[in-house]
Amino acid sequence: MNKGLIITYYGNGKGKTTAALGVALRAVGYDLKVCMIQFIKGEWDYGEIYSSNRLKPNFELIIAGKGFVGILDDDHDINEHVVSAKAALDLAKEKIDSLQYDTVILDEINYALKLKLIEEHELISILQAKPPEVNIILTGNYLTDQILNNSDLVTEMREVKHPFKKGIRAKKGIDF
Ligand code: ATP
Ligand code: MG
Repeated sequence: MNKGLIITYYGNGKGKTTAALGVALRAVGYDLKVCMIQFIKGEWDYGEIYSSNRLKPNFELIIAGKGFVGILDDDHDINEHVVSAKAALDLAKEKIDSLQYDTVILDEINYALKLKLIEEHELISILQAKPPEVNIILTGNYLTDQILNNSDLVTEMREVKHPFKKGIRAKKGIDF
């Protein structure tokens, strides 16, 4: 009953981070503690940044990334991204092992893996060594065999329709 789960939300459709935040909202309702570490979207503004203040002290959001990598407004050297992703992974391990949180969300970590900002074996050893009762949620559109094998729950968000295709830009409160 008390075994924590490793949950992976991946796929090309919208809803991965939203699903993780939904779990957080549900958990906070039972006075459980949730920590979310964001790996990639460090320099953007998100509703959940403000929500975390309202859900204190049950929900903690840590922005660890240096923003998008190699696209849009990225003005960081790839090594800067590697350093910040590595620091984020170290922090993730610290938070997971601290036993201060029931659930730790590693948001966009699968992108960090795909971009080779972090090493897969390091992530896998963190998952395998986690305290039994802690839940971990991984998001980002990338799935390796090892992540699949080490997860208890894997859901693919598959794009069927996205307003982006009609030229509708990201919406406040829906996309960020
Ligand atoms: P969300 O944070 O909305 O749950 P996500 O975590 O599934 O989305 P990400 O890959 O993290 O998806 O991308 C975040 C942003 O990209 C969101 O604004 C989302 O609406 C948008 N997005 C997600 N999937 C698609 C898609 N298939 N086409 C265009 N934009 C997308
Ligand atoms: Mg996301």
